[in-house]
Amino acid sequence: MTHTYDVAIVGAGIIGLAHAYAAAQRGKRVVVVERDPRANGASIRNFGFITVTGQERGHSWGLARRTRDVWAEVAPLAGIGIEQEGLVLTLRRAEAVDVAEAFLATEMGEGCALLGAAAFRDRYGEIAAPDALGALVSSHEVRVESRTALPKLAAWLGAAHGVTFLTETAVYGVAPPRIETSRGVVEAAVAIVCPGADFVTLFAERIAAYQPRKCRLSMLRLASPGFRLPAPVMSDLSLVRYAGYAALPQAAALRSRLAMEQAAHLANGVHLIVVQSADGSLVVGDSHHYGDLPAPFAPAEAEACILDEFERATGLKPPAVVERWVGTYPVADGRTYFIDAPSDAVRLVMVTSGTGASTGFGIAERTMQDVFGAGAGGVS
Ligand SMILES: Cc1cc2nc3c(=O)[nH]c(=O)nc-3n(C[C@H](O)[C@H](O)[C@H](O)COP(=O)(O)OP(=O)(O)OC[C@H]3O[C@@H](n4cnc5c(N)ncnc54)[C@H](O)[C@@H]3O)c2cc1C
Repeated sequence: MTHTYDVAIVGAGIIGLAHAYAAAQRGKRVVVVERDPRANGASIRNFGFITVTGQERGHSWGLARRTRDVWAEVAPLAGIGIEQEGLVLTLRRAEAVDVAEAFLATEMGEGCALLGAAAFRDRYGEIAAPDALGALVSSHEVRVESRTALPKLAAWLGAAHGVTFLTETAVYGVAPPRIETSRGVVEAAVAIVCPGADFVTLFAERIAAYQPRKCRLSMLRLASPGFRLPAPVMSDLSLVRYAGYAALPQAAALRSRLAMEQAAHLANGVHLIVVQSADGSLVVGDSHHYGDLPAPFAPAEAEACILDEFERATGLKPPAVVERWVGTYPVADGRTYFIDAPSDAVRLVMVTSGTGASTGFGIAERTMQDVFGAGAGGVS
């Protein structure tokens, strides 16, 4: 078979779909080539938590704000529900309050507030642990149900923007205009390769130059607690993991205290995110284990730490675990993502920080600017 397009995209995860949308917005004829029947990687295993507050200061924070805005525009058009909005980060240590205060004093504090213990209990009593000193609240976030949002986004791109999807089709050669696939040649003037955590099939040497590794996360779904959470919830441990907080000087004292009090949590890379689905169930995580090939075996210790932090942070007994899964994403030291240019007509895009749902639409606009020049929207 031979088909001709302006842009071929490899990979139907959120980064591929974000690029398909950005290209279609510029009036390009787009094909997305995906080896699985539909996205099945990190993009459907995540929390669907489009996070602004806590993203790395500067460029990533700007990308996240832009990406949140695009999600808010696209979701109703694609029939994707916004399941939750905002963030409540519970604070249980004086050192955590110090980090929150320092955060609020930066430009990233816009749209955020610090609640003291009484105000927190007043507004969010159902998730206030007995030792809660307050909470950092943010108004910026949105949350989608990724496992259904990704198929809906793909269907809408096809129906509303004429994007073609070739699924169960592996790409093994990219040299525009020839894109070699397991079902024959696709012709496209430009190719955008969004391979997720596949470091070897395409441009292996260029990817290796970024020295990527893989990170495996443990995730849980808990039964409904019987009420609606006011917003996604995070806790003290998140303040030493998310770069927007962790890079502040005040985070050092918190890290030292957590190392004494929650060493197993830190050893398993555990921090807490709790989000809620339409049926009331909770998606709860996560842990972080690194390697060139993280084993598929989720350690029970990590799960125990996640559930322990859930109870400490919310004061709630964890409801029954109804699902468990692991997910993997690429990481690279000192980079949240990269856009590499193997040639004028090819870009290789990889998010190397586990933030692709929060930054992908903004990154895609940058890629399009890089390839096609200035256009509508975007972050510089
Ligand atoms: C458990 C977990 C929780 C997370 N939570 C969040 C969160 O709440 N918020 C957030 O912002 N981020 C979160 N992340 C990170 C986010 O999910 C990722 O950054 C993002 O999904 C990466 O998207 P992607 O499209 O690059 O990769 P993927 O989703 O892995 O998609 C890559 C696709 O490319 C296809 N592919 C690769 N090579 C080829 C080839 N040669 N031919 C054809 N197809 C190919 C693969 O089959 C795959 O479908 C989380 C990640 C995990 C694992």
